[in-house]
Amino acid sequence: MAVNTCDPALHSWVKSAEAAGTDFPIQNLPFGVARIPGEATPRVVTAIGDRALDIHALTEAGVLAGLDDAVVAACRQTTLNALMALPRTALRTLRERLSALLEEARVETMRHRAVLEAALKPQSAVEMLVPAAIGDYTDFYASIFHATNVGKLFRPENPLLPNYKYVPIGYHGRASSIVPSGTAVRRPRGQMAGAAGEAPTFGPSRLLDYELEVGAFVSKPNPLSEPVGIDEAREHLFGLCLLNDWSARDIQSWEYQPLGPFLAKSFATTVSPWVVTLDALEPFRVPAFARSEEDPVPLPYLIGGDDQRRGGFEVRLEVLLETPRMHQAGEAPFLLSRSNLRELYWTLGQMVAHHTSNGCNLRTADLLATGTVSGAATTARGCLLEITARGAQPVVLRNGETRKFLEDGDTVILRGCCEREGAVRIGFGECRGTVLPAR
Ligand code: CA
Repeated sequence: MAVNTCDPALHSWVKSAEAAGTDFPIQNLPFGVARIPGEATPRVVTAIGDRALDIHALTEAGVLAGLDDAVVAACRQTTLNALMALPRTALRTLRERLSALLEEARVETMRHRAVLEAALKPQSAVEMLVPAAIGDYTDFYASIFHATNVGKLFRPENPLLPNYKYVPIGYHGRASSIVPSGTAVRRPRGQMAGAAGEAPTFGPSRLLDYELEVGAFVSKPNPLSEPVGIDEAREHLFGLCLLNDWSARDIQSWEYQPLGPFLAKSFATTVSPWVVTLDALEPFRVPAFARSEEDPVPLPYLIGGDDQRRGGFEVRLEVLLETPRMHQAGEAPFLLSRSNLRELYWTLGQMVAHHTSNGCNLRTADLLATGTVSGAATTARGCLLEITARGAQPVVLRNGETRKFLEDGDTVILRGCCEREGAVRIGFGECRGTVLPAR
């Protein structure tokens, strides 16, 4: 008998998980990896309220007894890779056990209460790490609004390239420079176009930007030369995080033709440390983006019944900016934009199907990012390039400061949450980074 771990009737005995507006009620239970003071190695953890629950410690106390050996072993690793590799059904047994242990109404919780209390650490006291050893990172370009807004800056009469409505556009990113939320990001130096007729220059980027994105971790791998069908794609995804694809626009515009982004992107990518599983996101699945009647129907390998019916996700996203002056004055961060993952032109399933359509093998813990999530509204633009029209219309902050692009000391904060009638709100925590001056 399947247990509904998303049931709104569930309540936790961990008080902070019952607080209004918490990102981590008992219905969420995301996974992450934390360095916990006093422990020699990083620990697999879940978030409940304002606590991180040390799952590794639970295995030592025998609290996870009865689960598959592979599940227990995965909880004792220093990354989420083994957990991500588990079959969905095995992973679900862990989620159900954690839910039961943390649920108010379960008598079992009482037996283990002392062990659980000891394994609960304040999130403020642990250091969250990049949750997995990421082998490959691919960044897509799945928002038609972002593609159109950016295209307009360079080709006002013909913003969208002819392939866009047929191909989920992407490029291969750099996995080695993915950092966890809270890591300061050094302004990159690079080669940029010179003034008209002049040679290019090399120096600190002057047009540093963020990109509001969502990342998806691969669970089940596909063998080389065996594409994943569109309606199987969900079985190949573990969960989602927030992702900031820091971008140096001046380096990018000089280098991107003909092979696409390279050093303009590879200096840093920030991820939120909690991976919200697809099981937790189940109540927030929505139909794929409704294309306009005039748009072409995607080729058959990108069209699936299940994917069309519920391949989208209702995830509200926002970007906030805190300047050094705001920080010193103790002012709240300034909201730059709000958008929603459901407005993506391509679903994550279509990205997986397309990525593997040539036989390319995705491996467990590979990271796929959506590309900048911009919406139809002018208030839903997911990067400064769009918001300021490449610096032509600076954004005016609450305290009168203006920004065309990011300045040293600026902190960018991404947040995300899922809300809908009949479900308990769940959130992603933060994806945060502060810009350091160039070396
Ligand atoms: Ca991007």
